[in-house]
Amino acid sequence: MTAPLSPGFVNGEVSFWYRSLGVPAPGEPLGGDLQADVAVVGAGYTGLWTAYYLKKADPSLRVVVLEKQFAGFGASGRNGGWLTGALAGSPERYAKTHGRDGARRLQRAMFEAVDEVIRVAGEEGIDADIVKGGLLTVARGPAQDLRLREELTGQRAWGWDAADVRLLTRDEMDDRLRVAGATGATWSPHCARIQPAKLVRGLARAVRDLGVEICEQTPVTEIAPGRAVTPYGTVRADHVLRCTEGFTATIAGHHRDWLPMNSSMIVTEPLPEGVWAEIGWQGRELLGDMAHYYMYAQRTADDRIAFGGRGRPYLYGSRVDERGRTHDWTVDALWDLLVSFFPAVAGSRVEHAWSGVLGVPRDWCSAVHVDPATGLGWAGGYTGHGVTTTNLAGRTLCDLVLRRDTELTRMPWVDRRVRAWEPEPLRWLGVHSMYRLYRLADARERRGMTRTSVLARIADKITGH
Ligand SMILES: Cc1cc2nc3c(=O)[nH]c(=O)nc-3n(C[C@H](O)[C@H](O)[C@H](O)COP(=O)(O)OP(=O)(O)OC[C@H]3O[C@@H](n4cnc5c(N)ncnc54)[C@H](O)[C@@H]3O)c2cc1C
Repeated sequence: MTAPLSPGFVNGEVSFWYRSLGVPAPGEPLGGDLQADVAVVGAGYTGLWTAYYLKKADPSLRVVVLEKQFAGFGASGRNGGWLTGALAGSPERYAKTHGRDGARRLQRAMFEAVDEVIRVAGEEGIDADIVKGGLLTVARGPAQDLRLREELTGQRAWGWDAADVRLLTRDEMDDRLRVAGATGATWSPHCARIQPAKLVRGLARAVRDLGVEICEQTPVTEIAPGRAVTPYGTVRADHVLRCTEGFTATIAGHHRDWLPMNSSMIVTEPLPEGVWAEIGWQGRELLGDMAHYYMYAQRTADDRIAFGGRGRPYLYGSRVDERGRTHDWTVDALWDLLVSFFPAVAGSRVEHAWSGVLGVPRDWCSAVHVDPATGLGWAGGYTGHGVTTTNLAGRTLCDLVLRRDTELTRMPWVDRRVRAWEPEPLRWLGVHSMYRLYRLADARERRGMTRTSVLARIADKITGH
């Protein structure tokens, strides 16, 4: 179905989240060579949280952030606003090096990081429309239902009890949110709704207030031990930290580190009371499903639905989109899915569509690293779970730079080594086959399969998901 677009429909222009704030006019670029203690490349959540904790720990440090566009231009200003305690990738992979206890510590730290972001936002006066309503994961149909229950069993085996995640009864589910075709749901308290651009812009302001210099319109063309090179000068620093997640493939020497995965969103116009009366959603929970080609959604502070999923998952040669323009068929596909979830929305219109890139490592698990010998460091590969993970990453990079031996620096994701993605055309073929198979698997399951389609299992094998 063709999505009904409102007269003021906008495609791209970074994201809907900047509509109320205005797309920022980029600040001044780097004014020439300078010497710093820490140079941070990229002013998304990772770079800004790192700068924040470094300055809090040692106000005398000179920290310079180099950003090729403006602070919050990347995924940090475009995401679905799930401040989620979910860990990227499978806990088994983190357990390989640090045992099950290590993986559990990392998961617990993720749960706590949700509250840490909320705490700092409160302390710094950042109003990011935060509501900690938890995460509602719905199953639609028997195969998804089975996966939901299997996932819950897995979580219990890892030691997470009903205080962390629990199955809802039909009445509890309907009390919260009425999703057409829902056959089951879990709810976890470890998730909060945010307005992503408000968080990243607020954080940039807080970091500047602490004395960090953020140089915008300043692309870094070379990262090497002791220096970050830009067209406007070179920043020399003991530590140079790469915080460019989905854009990392565009940096020389890092083309195959993390796959730039595309994610797309649409947002409706504000919905009338009658629609909310049918849907519910008074608790502002974040909403996800158990499809292979999964969706994610939030009810915004101004009563719209922001609804995301995979559009065109990956561009050949790891190209990254820049300003978020989204294909018409992706807008239509997201609209179809949204209306299938909430038929009451059918009479409203889409007001904005946008896309962005996130970073996916070959084993789908995140990592943080600082090499004490060269002073080079990085964090990322959050595979769509970066809103909270970046906070943990920022605190961890801070401790690693300051050479502190802490609970954070002993986490299993520190110094993880992962192999590179395959060269093209294998990379493109692998990712596109995976998503094609996922789409087919979802279609089969929708026709009433009671178990996970074998096609999805093949897709998982192909990409090591
Ligand atoms: C549409 C979408 C929805 C998402 N939804 C969620 C969600 O709901 N929950 C969740 O947890 N995660 C979500 N994510 C993922 C999450 O947003 C990211 O993982 C997170 O924001 C990454 O933050 P970052 O700072 O590492 O990277 P980014 O925010 O991408 O920032 C990187 C910055 O580096 C800059 N840069 C790049 N190259 C250079 C260079 N050469 N020189 C200087 N600067 C450079 C970029 O301009 C950019 O500002 C989503 C992502 C997308 C795209």
